[in-house]
Amino acid sequence: MSREERIEMLKKEFSEINTYNRPTYCAECGAVMVFKGLGEYQCEKCGARDYDDYGKVRNYVEMHMGANAAQTAKATGVAQKSIRDMLKEGKLEIAQNSAIFLKCEICGATIRSGKYCPKCEMNYHHDLEEMARKARHHGDTFGYSTERRKGEDGSKRFTREQ
Ligand SMILES: [Zn+2]
Ligand SMILES: [Zn+2]
Repeated sequence: MSREERIEMLKKEFSEINTYNRPTYCAECGAVMVFKGLGEYQCEKCGARDYDDYGKVRNYVEMHMGANAAQTAKATGVAQKSIRDMLKEGKLEIAQNSAIFLKCEICGATIRSGKYCPKCEMNYHHDLEEMARKARHHGDTFGYSTERRKGEDGSKRFTREQ
């Protein structure tokens, strides 16, 4: 895949990743949130951590083995539909002893969850972060919703209603 094709793919998928409420900017200081892997993000300036919907669901499912979609939705504030989509799309990890293997859509490496291997996913998020930095310099908030952040006190409170 050429660099141009990859950029096109990133643009096309940006709306998709936003449906999982990727934290683009820090709720504390407004700097760019850097992807740390598995739905976890850290502010490049103040170090505050945040999670996208996938990260919230993943953390919950890890601590509550066997939780169903309804319980997970209630505990994380993530819509049941999003959780079902994550399962369907393989974004939630399959069991370690499963014979089913997924392939990275970019390089074809064998993976246990998601669409991309950790290396390609890092590059993918790095490009999104670059786009966010550029948008920020132009005064365009690029998906950062002040509405959503209003009233949050920095603790993991999920105010998204659905
Ligand atoms: Zn920050
Ligand atoms: Zn890959």
